[in-house]
Amino acid sequence: MSIAKKEKAASTILLGRPKGTLKMGLVGLPNVGKSTTFNFLSKLSVPAENYPFCTLEPNLARISVPDEHFDNLCRIYQPKSQVSATLSIMDIAGLVKGAHKGEGLGNSFLSHIQQVDGIFHVVRAFDEDNIVHSEGAVNPVNDLQIIYDELRLKDLDRCQKLYDDMKKLVDRGQNKNLAGPFEMLQTFLNHLKSGNWISNRTNWSLKEVEALNDYCFLTAKPVIYLVNMNIKDYLRKKNKYLVKIHEWVEKNMRGPIIPYSADYEKTLIEDPASLQEHVSAVQKIILTGYSTLQLIHFYTTGKDEVKCWTIREGTKAPQAAGVIHTDMEKGFICAEVTKYDDLIELGSEQAVKNAGKVATKGRDYIVQNRDIMFFKFNPAKNKK
Ligand code: GDP
Repeated sequence: MSIAKKEKAASTILLGRPKGTLKMGLVGLPNVGKSTTFNFLSKLSVPAENYPFCTLEPNLARISVPDEHFDNLCRIYQPKSQVSATLSIMDIAGLVKGAHKGEGLGNSFLSHIQQVDGIFHVVRAFDEDNIVHSEGAVNPVNDLQIIYDELRLKDLDRCQKLYDDMKKLVDRGQNKNLAGPFEMLQTFLNHLKSGNWISNRTNWSLKEVEALNDYCFLTAKPVIYLVNMNIKDYLRKKNKYLVKIHEWVEKNMRGPIIPYSADYEKTLIEDPASLQEHVSAVQKIILTGYSTLQLIHFYTTGKDEVKCWTIREGTKAPQAAGVIHTDMEKGFICAEVTKYDDLIELGSEQAVKNAGKVATKGRDYIVQNRDIMFFKFNPAKNKK
């Protein structure tokens, strides 16, 4: 494969392996507003009965991802059940300086971060004398740096251990297949040592991305910065810390920054009449969380149910079927694909069929965003 082709291929293989249940974790120092944020998000949770196969944990809020295309399909089909895409948000207790060495229960918090697909980093940008700051004073840039370093140092520790273990095997010289993996570990180790997150580099090779996805490093996860400010600042769109926060993020991470006020969102749910303006940031938080994981939707539709499924860009038809059920992937025969725009334009499934616009696709078909999929599969194959 030419270098240009290889790079193109690598760019379609992304860091991380989000599954159907997408999880973002709320991470930050203590007293920055994580619990307040988690609490107002929990109040928006979709009812658990819509997701019978998923157990809901107390520190997990499952929120519907707003999607006008899904709403339009529900209007056409009027189904008995509507199941939209969701994003789960996990409350992770506050990290403190030294967490990577186990300070303040650091190790268990860090293992929670391991479970999530992406990170909402809550940054305190409100002054409030009565609310103690773990570092003694409100200083968002300092806070950003602490969390950045703690997660990096944790990865560095782990990477060093992996490297040392593999080095012993390489030194014994018995296993020639280890040369490639060992070289890669060395590259990751140097990258982390030089002060970087894994996600700071975007031109990892295909092989490196595969290895990184197996190692599941904390610093390979995408980060969105939630800047928590007072109601007054939020409404007037001014905050004395914002410029410095932007500068730090631009220099170190380039992740999205969302200004919001946990206090405001909480009040908007509990006592909306007390607020003069209603300008919630929640939709933006959820949509940004979802889009940062670089995912697309496909739908299954019918009178009984309209459901939105989530896959990564580049997923082929059998693997997309596998998101619904592994049997459908194993026994995959073909997929009937209707384009969302055709359905909206022609108004009904029957009209699309009459117009000859339902396409039959095989196992190499790459599912496109908003495709409406009907999978044909052979259940007999499963008995093998
Ligand atoms: P956590 O430790 O990060 O989970 O922080 P909490 O959500 O428990 O918040 C710590 C304290 O800060 C609580 O007393 C909150 O009411 C308060 N707080 C949270 N967000 C805001 C905010 O936007 N403005 C102000 N003034 N206080 C806030």
